[in-house]
Amino acid sequence: MIQSVRVLVLNQTYEPINVCGARRAVRMMLLGKAETIEEDGFMVRSERLEFRLPAVIRLLRYVKIPRKAEVPFSKKNVFRRDEHACQYCGSGDHLTLDHILPLSKGGRTNWENVVCCCRRCNARKGNRLPGEAGLRLRRPARKPHYYPFEWMNPRQTVSPHMRWEKYLDPYSAS
Ligand SMILES: [Zn+2]
Repeated sequence: MIQSVRVLVLNQTYEPINVCGARRAVRMMLLGKAETIEEDGFMVRSERLEFRLPAVIRLLRYVKIPRKAEVPFSKKNVFRRDEHACQYCGSGDHLTLDHILPLSKGGRTNWENVVCCCRRCNARKGNRLPGEAGLRLRRPARKPHYYPFEWMNPRQTVSPHMRWEKYLDPYSAS
């Protein structure tokens, strides 16, 4: 059981930097290198110790991480940024990409002008600006500040823990 628990590792600055196994996380905590930020709820008992497994730990000393590559602009990454939801109505069905300022009006294909959009809103918007079609973006289209961990390791099938959410928001880190 403990082997399957994954723990999100935050730098001292609360920036997510890694995901590790529970064993390693517990070892770092016992060595005084990290502290628990969020608990998993899973109880561990040994002869001398009894504690809850962490879901998120934070390193007590800052670790310098080489600058991550920029998040490449791609359909897949726009969908990820927008959490697979239409940025006008929130629907998760029949998604496509929408140019906020239409291409025909000089709109560019980049992070700031492309959002995930359902076909219905896309058809309604047509060749207009959102406001002209009575649509409003749920949040401004921005380039992610950093590479959220689960994006960097497409081969690592780590499903993010519920308690990781607030630390993995691409907009929360500066
Ligand atoms: Zn929509």
